[in-house]
Amino acid sequence: MDFELTEKQKMIRKLTREFAEEYIAPVAEESDRIQELDPTVMKKMKELNYFGTCIPEEYGGAGLHDDTIAFAIITEEIGRIDASWAITTGVHCSVCAYPIYKYGTEEQKQKFLIPVAKGEKIGAFLLTEANAGSDAGGVQMTAEKDGDEWILNGSKIFATNGGIAETMLVVAKSGEKGSRKELTVFIVNSDTPGYSVGVKEDKLGCRASNTSELVFDNVRVPDDQILGNIGGGFKLGLQILDYGRIVIAAQCLGLAQGCLEEAIKYANEREQFGVKIAKFQGIQWKIADMATDVESSRLLTYRAAWLCDQGQPYGLAGSMAKLVASEAAMNAAHQALQIHGGYGLMKAYPVERYFRDAKLGEIYEGTSEIQRLVIASHMLRKR
Ligand SMILES: Cc1cc2nc3c(=O)[nH]c(=O)nc-3n(C[C@H](O)[C@H](O)[C@H](O)COP(=O)(O)OP(=O)(O)OC[C@H]3O[C@@H](n4cnc5c(N)ncnc54)[C@H](O)[C@@H]3O)c2cc1C
Repeated sequence: MDFELTEKQKMIRKLTREFAEEYIAPVAEESDRIQELDPTVMKKMKELNYFGTCIPEEYGGAGLHDDTIAFAIITEEIGRIDASWAITTGVHCSVCAYPIYKYGTEEQKQKFLIPVAKGEKIGAFLLTEANAGSDAGGVQMTAEKDGDEWILNGSKIFATNGGIAETMLVVAKSGEKGSRKELTVFIVNSDTPGYSVGVKEDKLGCRASNTSELVFDNVRVPDDQILGNIGGGFKLGLQILDYGRIVIAAQCLGLAQGCLEEAIKYANEREQFGVKIAKFQGIQWKIADMATDVESSRLLTYRAAWLCDQGQPYGLAGSMAKLVASEAAMNAAHQALQIHGGYGLMKAYPVERYFRDAKLGEIYEGTSEIQRLVIASHMLRKR
């Protein structure tokens, strides 16, 4: 067993850390306030191919399709500074670009993947609806066959990148077999007639990341824009989320790491009772717990990524990583804010933003309750 990162992975961490500190950190607070991604950062990230991280170079990507650990490290380093950006690129890459690469036809890759991987078009994955959250089978958006086209009708909510996405993977109900719905995943571009952006959400955290409602009113999609098989959308959707969860785990890991560093910095600066508060055992225990949680999250996240790269099943490992890392991020944000005392509630300190941003990790791409269900179902299946 070798826990050492490769030289390439170390270099990727160094470069991404430098990039995030130089470009994202100075604008993170303002982006959070105005609920918009910074255009200069967006331009730079496209130039540096952060939107094509896990896609081969031949399709316009950065060539890390077989190095999910490196992809996790990139997301971790961005998430260490600003969860909103980690989500924006993480979702774009993991649940839009990567599925087209992994499950798409060559024609789909040429037409849809290349612009997405180059960052010319932002990607999104649309599963959630008003009545379909944890229960993915509750999807009500319909896809009706009409000649060699499908007509999509319905609305999606809470779509990450929704308002800025130009290429989307859309899960819709394409039929019924007995009492069971059949779902299909469609690739849809935003310039298709009948598509429109609805309400943009005003959120507690990850505010710079765009979260929007999307409306499909008689949107016509040709047969050749089906991803995978007709009726195979439920299984495919879950496979897409399995990969996505490794990336969410990495985002949460980065946030937890950021909280740990901010807490250590502050504890070594702030004096009370004539000494640095880092001298108090009560503070030291919090830091010890945070550091241990961060390291457990890192090990689980990298292991899930490693299993993926080995071609081994990684659904269980990804769920465990996402569960542990998202709860570690929430706990770390809580403790980091506590260590900052009253100053932790002030916008002058990043922990105020980290605290609000942390909560999302326990909710999206499957809540913590759903991760526990997934993990339990794997455990009980083995017996
Ligand atoms: C900011 C943000 C971004 C998002 N981005 C996307 C995106 O890009 N694409 C997308 O498709 N979706 C996205 N989502 C949706 C997200 O995945 C869902 O919010 C999430 O899956 C939970 O669904 P829900 O909100 O409907 O909660 P519900 O499913 O209604 O759950 C409510 C509560 O009940 C619990 N619960 C539900 N079922 C069970 C059960 N069987 N056992 C125990 N407890 C249960 C849940 O854990 C939760 O605590 C996003 C959400 C947010 C907030």
